Amino acid sequence: MSCIFCKIINKQELSGILYENNKFIVIKDINPKAPVHLLIIPKKHIPSVKEIGQEDKELLGELILVAKEFAEQKGLKGYKLIINVGREDGQIIDHLHLHLLAQ
Ligand code: 5GP
Ligand code: ZN
Repeated sequence: MSCIFCKIINKQELSGILYENNKFIVIKDINPKAPVHLLIIPKKHIPSVKEIGQEDKELLGELILVAKEFAEQKGLKGYKLIINVGREDGQIIDHLHLHLLAQ
């Protein structure tokens, strides 16, 4: 498996995981585009939103909840949640992830 996020999840790559539970990890983006730029990453390897299915409904709800709880814990008043979909619109890592950006 050559996916960089799977390697981080499997601890084959050092990354400074900020939070982990049985379904997700949270890491800092290596190339931050805002003072706070985190990535919430499901452990399940789903290449992109294009590949999600009915079976992922619960996981996707939990993805937003993890982001919300993390933002609350960091005391963020407002933030952006972004998912890039497809190479054509800026997705460079083919493992579904949610960007959390804040000032
Ligand atoms: P995408 O464009 O696929 O939505 O976002 C991928 C993000 O992952 C980019 O913002 C990029 O800076 C970040 N990234 C790529 N490789 C690594 C890595 O090895 N470690 C971390 N922490 N972030 C990465
Ligand atoms: Zn992966």
